[in-house]
Amino acid sequence: EVSVHGVTKHYGLLRVLDDVSLTVPAGAVTVILGPSGSGKSTLLRSINHLERVDRGFIAVDGELIGYRQQGDTLYELAETEVLHRRVDVGMVFQNFNLFPHLTVLENLVEAPIAVRGLKREEAEAQARELLARVGLADKAASYPRQLSGGQQQRVAIARALALKPKVLLFDEPTSALDPELVGEVLDVIKELARSGTTLVIVTHEIGFAREVADTVVFMESGRILESGSPEQVFSAPRHPRTAAFLDKVL
Ligand code: ATP
Ligand code: MG
Repeated sequence: EVSVHGVTKHYGLLRVLDDVSLTVPAGAVTVILGPSGSGKSTLLRSINHLERVDRGFIAVDGELIGYRQQGDTLYELAETEVLHRRVDVGMVFQNFNLFPHLTVLENLVEAPIAVRGLKREEAEAQARELLARVGLADKAASYPRQLSGGQQQRVAIARALALKPKVLLFDEPTSALDPELVGEVLDVIKELARSGTTLVIVTHEIGFAREVADTVVFMESGRILESGSPEQVFSAPRHPRTAAFLDKVL
């Protein structure tokens, strides 16, 4: 479970997250929609503690990601401790971010060995299983540049899964892809959704959102304006800003 409580964040004077609260139950899929600049990426990066927040807190399965609580006071954790806890939160970016100088297999084994202390054989066996799961069993020895964008993104998803995160965050995972490659990546994410992985997904793929989301959240100007089931938000948006946004993207 991910819980975001009253999170506020500024860049200089600009308030990019404004009292955001959100709960993603274990095994549930939340899709975040909103116009450019509404704070979607900042929210994901905050859940992963790639960003510090100014107020509020974020917990994964009850554990604060960047802080330790003592009485009523929150103390910021040292970077090494943050790294340790960040393992619970996987993230997949728009631009894949694979290590270009490593083979697909090496991309998947490096972190589990370094961070989770797996033996090489264990890490490789797990990596091959994950590659099979994303339909790329035959690409273990390839380098990222030898793969299509859709294949690279599927490797990136497998790499994120290799750390066995409690929640997986996707920031526009298909928006850098040619249209014909979008489906294969969405299919992998749908399979994760069906298998009960906790997911938070920023996307503009409305059809996909309707299909996989348990909850759809609409953000604008750093605020959550509404959230609800896909049927409710897409068919009967409560907020006029949501309706206006959907008119543009549908
Ligand atoms: P998009 O749909 O374009 O990806 P977004 O909803 O993900 O947009 P964010 O990237 O979270 O939006 O940005 C929210 C606001 O914060 C924007 O106004 C952006 O310009 C600003 N911002 C983001 N990162 C920084 C930064 N490192 N320094 C200053 N301002 C930033
Ligand atoms: Mg963004």
